[in-house]
Amino acid sequence: MKIFNTLTRSKEEFDPIEPGKVRMYVCGPTVYNFIHIGNARPMIVFDTVRRYFEYRGYEVNYVSNFTDVDDKIIKKAIEEGSTSEQVAARFIDECKKDMEALNVRPATTHPMATNEISGMIEMISTLIEKDHAYAAEDGTVYFSVKSDPDYGKLSHKNIDDLEGGHRDIKVTGEEGKRDYLDFVLWKPKKEGEPYWESPWCDGRPGWHIECSVMAKKYLGDEIDIHAGGEDLIFPHHENEIAQSEGANGVQFSRYWMHNGFLNIDNKKMSKSLGNFFTVREISEKYDLQVLRFFMLSAHYRSPLNFSADLMESARNSLDRILTCAGQLRDIAASGRTEGLDGAKYEGDVLADTSGFVTKYEEAMDDDFNTADAISSIFEFVRFANQHANELSSDQAGALYDRLKTLSDVLGVILERQEEELDFDIDALIAERQQAKKEKNFARADEIRDELLEKGIRLKDTREGVKWERV
Ligand code: AMP
Ligand code: ZN
Repeated sequence: MKIFNTLTRSKEEFDPIEPGKVRMYVCGPTVYNFIHIGNARPMIVFDTVRRYFEYRGYEVNYVSNFTDVDDKIIKKAIEEGSTSEQVAARFIDECKKDMEALNVRPATTHPMATNEISGMIEMISTLIEKDHAYAAEDGTVYFSVKSDPDYGKLSHKNIDDLEGGHRDIKVTGEEGKRDYLDFVLWKPKKEGEPYWESPWCDGRPGWHIECSVMAKKYLGDEIDIHAGGEDLIFPHHENEIAQSEGANGVQFSRYWMHNGFLNIDNKKMSKSLGNFFTVREISEKYDLQVLRFFMLSAHYRSPLNFSADLMESARNSLDRILTCAGQLRDIAASGRTEGLDGAKYEGDVLADTSGFVTKYEEAMDDDFNTADAISSIFEFVRFANQHANELSSDQAGALYDRLKTLSDVLGVILERQEEELDFDIDALIAERQQAKKEKNFARADEIRDELLEKGIRLKDTREGVKWERV
């Protein structure tokens, strides 16, 4: 399996620390609101990466944090007249609901920053002991960037360039800093803010330290993969490397994976531009399976544009897969020993579709190219549709199982279409059949039109009445 590693800017063969195991850390959201559809991209992408490792037989220890102490959470709590604990608890809950609807599996561990303060104090103390950090007079602790000769290795930035436009720390009001580049590990409390006791002052941690500490605690000093959106490369991940490698003395993560950004109608998503969507808002218009499928229709490192047209086309593509799956399921359940009118698929369906599986695996082995993997699923679907009338139940069942295995890795649920409808199609179909029997064709047509309005088209087939989305 090959992974594009931001650290080396090249695709590398995946070589885990422990054979057969993957230790993976994905930076999670700051929980002060419902997650937006940009936040959903890394969740979906790295959930798929995890699923593919499992498909390949790896055991994955997947850790993803919730940042539950932060300026934005405190601000929200003040606005609402609640506490930051309440704000964080509520939005962690809401985030988990969205994850479930997106079929993003819960991580092995979802640590929260506020539960890990003692580990942070310990790592900061180690960094001070090793001269990688220092406490200023007011109790703020800074990481000393110049103490790390490797600083900049992930973002491929040169410290001197960073300093190029350097600002005077006296002007920025950070007199305690020895150098403009230094970043905060611990900061003093302000009135009304949550705080913890520490050797330096009552206060709270900086943002970067939490991930270094949680990765160490739940995965170890050395991990295989660290991931997040590309905006995190600098400074967040660069700073995580500086902290972890400074404190632990070993390479932190072997591979660094970053997803590209999601834009809206080719513009950056932002509240001020009025093009900001939460996952919850999108769920009112679309099945979130469509959002997931849409996200995976592009390579994870490419920028991805969100628009109504593209979502519509994702919905249609997904429907083709689900319709094919439904048809295979029906044939599998029909108990037929040969195809329609004695037609027979003479070959071995598994052998004859193994080429699509190979293509799928080659695509996923090549830095998780889900776009190409989806193309191979469509080739499979075309094959299944072409031969549907010739298949016995057993053959259809075998094809269905294969399609399900490939779809599961992408987190596409083949059975969901029926379950998610908020009205009972089967009951209406039964009523229409009864109306037809009673020669009440007006009512039968009415039901057909009623369903059509809801986006469901009925088809009278030899195996009974079937339906599909239009
Ligand atoms: P945040 O809560 O801002 O720290 O973001 C949580 C995760 O979502 C991080 O991995 C970000 O890189 C990622 N993210 C935020 N906005 C977008 C976006 N528009 N497109 C893709 N990923 C994003
Ligand atoms: Zn992080």
